[in-house]
Formats: sequence, C-alpha cells, structure tokens
Amino acid sequence: MPPEPCPACGETAMRTLFSATDRLYHTTNKPFLVVECEGCRLMRLYPQPTPLELREYYPDGYWFSPAEDKTNRLAELYRKFVLMDHVRFVSKALAHAGDQDGLLLDVGCGGGLFLHLMRERGVQGMGLDFSLAAAAVAYERFDVPVVCATLSKAPLQEASCKVITMFHVLEHLFDPLSYLKAAHQLLTPEGRLVVQVPNAACWQFLIMGKDWNGVDVPRHLINFRASELESLLGFAGFEVIRRKYFSLRDNPAGLATSIAPDLDPMARHVRSVKETPGWKLAKDLSYLALVIAALPLTAFEAACRAGSTIMLEARKKR
Ligand SMILES: [Zn+2]
Repeated sequence: MPPEPCPACGETAMRTLFSATDRLYHTTNKPFLVVECEGCRLMRLYPQPTPLELREYYPDGYWFSPAEDKTNRLAELYRKFVLMDHVRFVSKALAHAGDQDGLLLDVGCGGGLFLHLMRERGVQGMGLDFSLAAAAVAYERFDVPVVCATLSKAPLQEASCKVITMFHVLEHLFDPLSYLKAAHQLLTPEGRLVVQVPNAACWQFLIMGKDWNGVDVPRHLINFRASELESLLGFAGFEVIRRKYFSLRDNPAGLATSIAPDLDPMARHVRSVKETPGWKLAKDLSYLALVIAALPLTAFEAACRAGSTIMLEARKKR
C-alpha cells in the first residue's frame, strides 16, 4: 500500500514520533503511530483508521447520559461554570458579527450544554452533530434544535449563520478543510468562525510526549500546532483576529487527565469502572484536587502563548 499523503500539503514522506494506544477509554490495544509530515511538520495518526474502525473507538456514553441524581446535578453545575470561557468568547464573536440576523451554529454540539447556556442568553442557537445519541441528548435534555449531519451536507442556506463554533471537532476529522470551507459558505459576510483544538505547540506535549491527553490516540486524527491551525484557516479563506490559549474547562482538566487517566471521571463512566460509593467519591475528589493544582501551571503556560488548547476567532478574508 502506498503511504497516505499528508492532508495539508500532500507530502508522503514522514517520520515516526511515537507509538501509542487508547490509554483513556481502552477501546483497543492496537498500537498506532503518530507521525510528522516531512513537508509541513503536521502531526497525524498513522495509519488512519477506516470510518468503521473509528466508530469502535467512540465508546457508548462518550456523549454522556445524564442521570438525574444529586452528584450529576453537581457535575452539571461544575460543567456550566467551567464553560463560561467559551460563552464569553463566543458572545464577543457574536457582537463582532454585527446586527444582521443569523444563527449561532455549534458544530459537534455533543450533549448541547453550551448551546443551552447561549440560548438562555437570548441567542438563536442550533446544533449539528453526526452522533444521533448526542443529538438526542441535546434535544431531549435541553430542547436544543439539532441537525444530525456532517457540516458539508447540512440542510442550511448559504450565509444563514452569524457565528459557527467548532469546539474540539477538527482534530477528529479525516478532512478538516472541507468543514472549514463549508463554514465559509454558511457564514454571513461579517460572520465569525470560532475554533478550538488542543495545541500541540504547548509545554505539556514537550514534557509529557505521548502521555499528553491532547494526543488522544486513536480519536485524534490530526494534532495541530496553533500556527498550523491558522494556516488551515487561511487556506479556507479565513483570517484570525483573536486568540486565546486558556480554557477553564479544558486546560487544567487536560493536565489532570494526562497525569492520572484512571482518575478521569468521564473515562471511568464510559468504561463502567466498578467502584463502591466511597471509592468513587475518593477518586472524584483526588481528580478535583489535581485539576485545582493544575490551574496555576496551565494558566502560566497559556500566558506564555503555549497553552494546551487554542481558541481562535476568524472572519472571512477581505
Ligand atoms: Zn504536510
């Protein structure tokens, strides 16, 4: 089989950085390579799983199924609190997009909590996700309208969206450029695109290598450095006007999960790890302590523009 070409520059030459497997959700023991393109240095998973294989690597419950008990209500309060960075960033983007009518479209909306928070603030928001399970949770739990589709086939009119958001979406796609081009068509002339991905140009990746949770083998097909994401946006006709290297939801918890993947509450839930209530509480509290301890470190890393996630606002090139 000829080697797959780099999705960014088409080069087939590559060098292997490391081999790894699914250390978070344990969906497979199969080793994968993370390689770096010799042409443009973009990092990617090699070989790429087939779409059918990839489905196996997204375990049931990946989209979470909220049960109505007290701990889950506490967990939801926490999730709402840590999403405030995203809410503020997108509210600003909406203000930049002007007074024209238009939708806020959240691509990869998952369980819909972010859109729920935006709709509470009077924003006309809609979700898109290719997981039917995620779409069902968003609709049933939060009454959020959701289209179950890929962005290039979304049943939406050209120039109907004021802001399109993609939080942790592009790194999961075989062809991220097609999503960016589709977003370009769907946005109004003054519309804004907000994109967030893990930033492989962070200190955590330098220090922890394959144990950095931003690599997330085998679900992350591409590992972007912030500059590479900006180039890709440029190819799709966008220019970046705002950058944020810190997210309260993602950066501290990301470091906690990198250090102790077996404590990650989501991973334990998805893997149905058997725990007594006392043991569960002890693990949850240990994880929370790690997240709090990670806060100053990850905030400092982000202040030096080497944060473990990057959130960008982009507009159409003029
Ligand atoms: Zn390349």
